Amino acid sequence: MVMLGYNLGCRNCLQSDGIKRITQILDADERNYLSKTELNLVKMVETWREQEEATCDFCNSTNVEILDIDVNGEPAYDFDRLVQRTNTKGEYMLMFNIDKSLDNIRLRPGGSPKLEFHFAKTAIQTIITFIASLPTSYFKAQARGNFFISLTGSHLKVQIERFRNSGISKDEIFQALKPSLDQVGVDYRQFNLASTKSNPNTFKGSSFNSWFYAESLEEAKSKGYPYSNVCFNLDENTLVACGTGNDSPRDFIQKNLNNDFKIDSSTPAMNINGKKVLYAKRS
Ligand SMILES: [Zn+2]
Repeated sequence: MVMLGYNLGCRNCLQSDGIKRITQILDADERNYLSKTELNLVKMVETWREQEEATCDFCNSTNVEILDIDVNGEPAYDFDRLVQRTNTKGEYMLMFNIDKSLDNIRLRPGGSPKLEFHFAKTAIQTIITFIASLPTSYFKAQARGNFFISLTGSHLKVQIERFRNSGISKDEIFQALKPSLDQVGVDYRQFNLASTKSNPNTFKGSSFNSWFYAESLEEAKSKGYPYSNVCFNLDENTLVACGTGNDSPRDFIQKNLNNDFKIDSSTPAMNINGKKVLYAKRS
C-alpha cells in the first residue's frame, strides 16, 4: 500500500491551511511511486481532485495547487537526493525561482555549477513548451507570486522534477527568463504562445483575508484613509488594503471574491501601525 501525503495552496486566494492530506492507494508498489517525479505525482492528484470536483476550502475555486508530495513519508522532491543522483549519473540540474511583489520580479537561477550547452538548451525548450501546455488559470496574475521549476537530465533526456506557480502570468515568467533564453539562443516568441498578459497589479477580491479598523471615524477622516478596511499581507512590511464602505469586512470579501482589484496609484501609500499600506480599488 502507498500513502500519498500533500498540502494544498490556492492560486485564486493564495491561502493554504497547512493541513496534510493523505490518499491511500491500495495494491500500489512503493518503489514504483518513489521513482516518479514530484510533478508526475502532482498530475495524478490533480486528476483525482478534478474527478471529485474538489475545491479550495477558503474560496471554492478549483484552481488549487498540490504541494510537497510525499510517498509513505518520503518527500517526492528532495534537492540533496537529486544532486547526488545527477552527480553519480553525470547528469545536470537546472532550477529557476521567480518571486513577485507587484511589478518587482526577481529571478534566481540555480542547479549544477556548470551546465553542458545542449542540456541547458533542451531544458529551456522543455520549460517553455511545458508552460505553454498548461491552463492559463495556473498563471493568474496576483499582487504577489512565486514560480519554481527544477529539471534534471542530459541533452538526450530532460525531465521536470518540480513545478510550482501561483500569482505570476506566463508573460511575466517568459520576460524574467529572457536572459537565460538568450544565452542558449531560444526565442520564446517562436513558440506561438497564447498571451496571458494582464496587469501585474490586478488581483482577485478573494486575496483579502483579514481586516482592520481605524481607531475612530475622526482619526480615519483626519489621516485620509477609510474607517473599515479589508487587507492582506503583500510581504512582511506591506499590507494591501481596501475600504469596505458601508459593508462589514466579511460581507465585503464575500461580495467581491471574484472581482478584480488593483493598486490605486492615486492614493499615496500610508503608514499604519508601523506597516506600509497600499490602497487598492476595483479595476
Ligand atoms: Zn482559494
